Amino acid sequence: MALTGLDIFKLLPKTNCKKCGMPTCLAFAMALAQKRVKLDDCPDVSQEAKEKLAAAAAPPMRKVVFGSGDNQVQIGQETVMFRHEEKFYNPTVLAVTVSDKLTGDDLKKRIESVNSLQFERIGTKIGARAVAVINDSGSPDSFAQAAAAVKDAGDLALILVTQSPEAMAAALAKTKESIPLLASATPDTAEAMAQIAKENGCPLAAQAESIEALSDLTEKIEAQGVEDIVLNLVAPSLRDQLYNLSKMRALALKKVFRPLGYPTISFVTDDSADTQAASAISLICKYSGIVVLDTVEPYALLPMLTAVMNVFADPQKPVQVEPKVYPIGEPNENSPMMFTTNFSLTYYTVESDVEASRIPSYILVVDTEGTSVLTAYSGDKLNEKTVADAMTKHSVEDLVKHRKLIIPGYVAVMSGKLEEATNWEVMVGPRECSMLPKYLQEVWK
Ligand code: SF4
Repeated sequence: MALTGLDIFKLLPKTNCKKCGMPTCLAFAMALAQKRVKLDDCPDVSQEAKEKLAAAAAPPMRKVVFGSGDNQVQIGQETVMFRHEEKFYNPTVLAVTVSDKLTGDDLKKRIESVNSLQFERIGTKIGARAVAVINDSGSPDSFAQAAAAVKDAGDLALILVTQSPEAMAAALAKTKESIPLLASATPDTAEAMAQIAKENGCPLAAQAESIEALSDLTEKIEAQGVEDIVLNLVAPSLRDQLYNLSKMRALALKKVFRPLGYPTISFVTDDSADTQAASAISLICKYSGIVVLDTVEPYALLPMLTAVMNVFADPQKPVQVEPKVYPIGEPNENSPMMFTTNFSLTYYTVESDVEASRIPSYILVVDTEGTSVLTAYSGDKLNEKTVADAMTKHSVEDLVKHRKLIIPGYVAVMSGKLEEATNWEVMVGPRECSMLPKYLQEVWK
């Protein structure tokens, strides 16, 4: 919970010396609460006050990072219970299991199946982002070999799942440079697992069967010097799991209860692909930082990934594409030039219909702050000036030798002013872009 100006004021020297540029300590405290000044601007603040203010300013949920290089992922650092209050920051990581009972070609095929779970949706690459190697065999050697094979495939972040410190140490000996997440320490193995995590600089999941036991466990692990912790609360049912995740989130964010101020991991591994999809989507909504799955069925993964995309989209910021000229196919100087707005859904719908026409074209994307054609026009973000400016900025004159611009049918009303502003001939396209293929084939000359 953020400190109020009065809370901060109590920690200041209260001399009103003005060295910070403020007339009084109270004015400085109020400005600091609003993040308009920095604590360092007061040269006389005590070390004790600095430490108290720094502790209070720490995020209520810690950010945890694992994986390395391009495979690195981060979870946590959330600040609100509900997306509309601000936004959610770090999207749920979907991890898929690889059992260490698999060997040879079976192991290779499973790793390939997991790594291939990658898709594209409205111009964004989405997919599984971690592999969870499971110590089903109970053998440290088998676990180490399977972990090494996954690491060598090198496509995704790694999670090592075993309750045996011996197996964890064996697998880490072959994979520590991948900085895997270690899952999980229990009350019985906390000391040994924390030691392994600390020595190898890896985050550690803490596993317990009640919120109370879990908070005791995280305190114990933190006391051993491991700061990056992930909460693994085992529950008898999905209903209990969702209740516990919501309760832990509220305790961390609303009450700033530090022992629970960490992201979470959930396992959905013992049902059909259909049931895993339904359970995982519930856990993405409430509030699992990582969801571990057994299924490698693309049809089950896609709705989960769509849920992640939607839940973690910034509600105050429409999904946008970069404003610029996009060539579709291999257009030349005689190809059609048309414009649309930078609202992702609008752009990708237009793009797909232009592709369907099989007529190579240019699409000029005008920056309308991520709004659709009609919304942008109504809000005066799309007018003859913004289009003309975009044409100049992106040098459309250099791309085609004709001077014809196709505009969306919904803004036919701007034709006259646009012709005056650009000296280009305006051609009014169809109102619905699904008619673009027919329009381009019949009208474009
Ligand atoms: Fe108060 Fe520090 Fe500012 Fe002086 S420099 S007025 S002590 S806040």
